Amino acid sequence: MKATWIDFKALRAKLDFQHVLRHYGVEIKRKGEQHHGFCPLPNHNGKKNSPSFSANLERGIFQCFGCGAKGNVLDFAALMEGVDPTVGERLREVALKLQERFCPEIAEIPKPEKAPARRKPETRETSATAPSPAIVNAPLDFELKGLDAGHPYLLGRGFTSATVEHFGLGFCTRGLLKDRVAIPLHDSGGALVGYAGRVVDDKAVSEDNPRYRFPGARKRGEEVHEFRKTLFIYNGFRIKSPVDDLIVVEGFASVWWLHQNGLPNVVATMGADCSERQAELIAALVKPVGRVWIVPDGDKAGERHAQSLLGKIAPVRSVRWIKLEPDTQPTDYAAAFFRERLGA
Ligand SMILES: [Zn+2]
Repeated sequence: MKATWIDFKALRAKLDFQHVLRHYGVEIKRKGEQHHGFCPLPNHNGKKNSPSFSANLERGIFQCFGCGAKGNVLDFAALMEGVDPTVGERLREVALKLQERFCPEIAEIPKPEKAPARRKPETRETSATAPSPAIVNAPLDFELKGLDAGHPYLLGRGFTSATVEHFGLGFCTRGLLKDRVAIPLHDSGGALVGYAGRVVDDKAVSEDNPRYRFPGARKRGEEVHEFRKTLFIYNGFRIKSPVDDLIVVEGFASVWWLHQNGLPNVVATMGADCSERQAELIAALVKPVGRVWIVPDGDKAGERHAQSLLGKIAPVRSVRWIKLEPDTQPTDYAAAFFRERLGA
């Protein structure tokens, strides 16, 4: 374990932007809610003597209209250090330095998601009233075999066998995902952490049989492993380094469709609501000067999806919403439609 765990959210909340500015010798003047001044970033390549830089110290965000840089206080520190804030490992180094200097007490907060796996085996059953903390989104220790990649559901919806193979999809005839298309879920490092399953017969959808089934909790000895989709974005691991344009959709099928139509930089939130963590993961896949394109379904949930993303992404990345016709989905549109919108 070489990486030291860091709670970016807690650190951002705790850091005083004013202190960070002073730390880097930056002086900017207050004007209303914002502070303004010359851009202090070493890579600023716009006009040097215009006050293009502004920051909202309360919200902990900044933006430069000259060079286009923007982000939160950690992004700022990284850019001041000449580090690309979208490279997680480098951002972590900068964040650790700031944490040490300004709020070392944060390091004392224990890591919430993973429980230490050092509990001694007990001779009796552990009490159900004292559940151990779950291990979240850990790599799976098995793989589903014998999935049918040639199932008519997939090919019938216009997906090619190359697409089906690329995403590792297949119809499952056994177990929890019986009669569903199994969809492998990989974490940002590419490790398989679970499978989602989609019903192939929409008439079979009911309260007890949802259209999508996500991995449930599984017991491994004393430990409980569980999957949380709010800490995860679908297809994120295939985007190896920050891109100029990233498309964000609601569901799996839209990812497959756009990929098949020559737009591989696409991820899904797997639902209408985007969590803080998902927004962070999305922003990290896009260059600071890049753009996030939201393409939700053309319905009420899609609108909620767009609003949820806009609120969280807009402070750190430029965001556009590609609105679809009512009651349509990204899979109803051809490649040309997206290319035109993206200006590609
Ligand atoms: Zn600048």
